[in-house]
Amino acid sequence: MNGNTCSSTRFVCVKDKSGSNPSNRVVPRECLSSLFVDRGFFDPIKTVEFYYFMGVMEMLAKAPKGTRDILPDEIHKWYYVEEKFREIANRFGYKEIRIPVFEHTELFERGVGDTTDIVQKEMYTFNDKGGRSITLRPEGTAGVVRSYIQNGMSSWAQPVKLFYDITAYRYENVQKGRYREFHQFGVELFGAAHPGADVEVISLLHLFFKELGIKNLALNINSIGCPTCREKYNQKLKEFLGTKLDNLCHTCKERYDRNPMRILDCKDDSCKQMVVNAPALLDHICEDCAKHFERVKSKLTAMDIPFSIDKGIVRGLDYYTRTVFEFVSENIGSQGTVCGGGRYDGLIEACGGTPTPGIGFGLGVERLLLEMDNQKIEIPAPKSPDIFIGFVGEQAEELAESLTLKLRAAGISCDKDIMARSVRAQMKYANKINSRFIIILGDNEVESGKVELKDMTTGETKDINIDTIVDRLLKYKIGN
Ligand code: ATP
Ligand code: MG
Repeated sequence: MNGNTCSSTRFVCVKDKSGSNPSNRVVPRECLSSLFVDRGFFDPIKTVEFYYFMGVMEMLAKAPKGTRDILPDEIHKWYYVEEKFREIANRFGYKEIRIPVFEHTELFERGVGDTTDIVQKEMYTFNDKGGRSITLRPEGTAGVVRSYIQNGMSSWAQPVKLFYDITAYRYENVQKGRYREFHQFGVELFGAAHPGADVEVISLLHLFFKELGIKNLALNINSIGCPTCREKYNQKLKEFLGTKLDNLCHTCKERYDRNPMRILDCKDDSCKQMVVNAPALLDHICEDCAKHFERVKSKLTAMDIPFSIDKGIVRGLDYYTRTVFEFVSENIGSQGTVCGGGRYDGLIEACGGTPTPGIGFGLGVERLLLEMDNQKIEIPAPKSPDIFIGFVGEQAEELAESLTLKLRAAGISCDKDIMARSVRAQMKYANKINSRFIIILGDNEVESGKVELKDMTTGETKDINIDTIVDRLLKYKIGN
């Protein structure tokens, strides 16, 4: 092993440079002599490497940038929105699909588009041990489309209506509402080219936000036409951008030839400046696309779903056609887009399936929860345990154990000490976890088979036979 070293009092960090993948190893100091000194290539400790060592220790106790734990005191919020989304999606006739966390890189290059920011800058791509290029999904649509083709869904009853609840991975500039691992709810509706499908998907979101109690999310819509109208438009856009090429970022200079419309979606400040007065695609769409858009607008109006036209929306996927939309909040700053979606009539064909229209959306769950927090929307807090059983003595402990299991089996949430604590400490703990009822078992209770049930909210007590305790507790409407 050819290694650099650094050290703390008890451990030494060894930088192992042997093999093709240099790696860090933390080894106890006593191992060092056998590893290095004995073999004659021990490198003296250097200060710089000591800090390097400290960095390693930090990495062990800190999640990678852009990822976060969802802790027990906030998980109820996630359950709440997940359950609501599932329930509404089911109400609209959508069935859940679960797709892999990783796919072949080529799928995203094709399915998301190789001139998009996602593919060019944000993907987590690596070679697996078999030498295949693998990518952690940066979004859900490509994987669902792959599954549609692979599982022959074109022969299922049409339209095929799917929803998902996934994690997604993008190498991003981390800030509030922008992470490297994040969560998305989404739906994909395959097989329906009719404007009614666009409106159904938008109305699902409208109802979802309404039932969550979210106000003031603006729905912005646009049409980005079909490949025919886009070809003519791209020509116009290139004429407009032709004199401004020097001011575009490196990526957009490349996009100019391959996919000029992508420049409209670039986050670079200089590029944003350059496209301020660019011609809008909406003003150049063909007659069929214009008719489709008119029908989407009139249907939304008829359904009382307020919207605005935003000619600037192009969306981040290459295969979007016709309707595109976003739900935007004022509150989350530049990360205000809670949800984005659109029609992608060319995508399934581009991925090797038979030509099939499709429409869907991806909704950022972190941004949704941030918005709910900003709007001070209360999410019901989790229930505290129904009952805590304290005990003194060995026999009482055994009775507490069997009684706890019996109550739990009856659907009553119940807890007891498993830390050999004094009864006083047990009661302190019961108080901390906010248990509604308390029972204390001792020799008397074991002998008599009777216990005193104390309601901690009212202070009221009741004598109950252990044999009938489940029925009595269920009568107090605790448990399920
Ligand atoms: P943005 O313009 O904010 O980068 P996007 O156009 O890249 O968004 P989509 O690919 O349409 O986003 O994803 C749908 C939704 O997923 C977004 O509207 C947003 O709510 C959420 N989202 C996207 N990227 C992130 C991220 N890095 N962290 C958290 N949420 C995200
Ligand atoms: Mg993005």
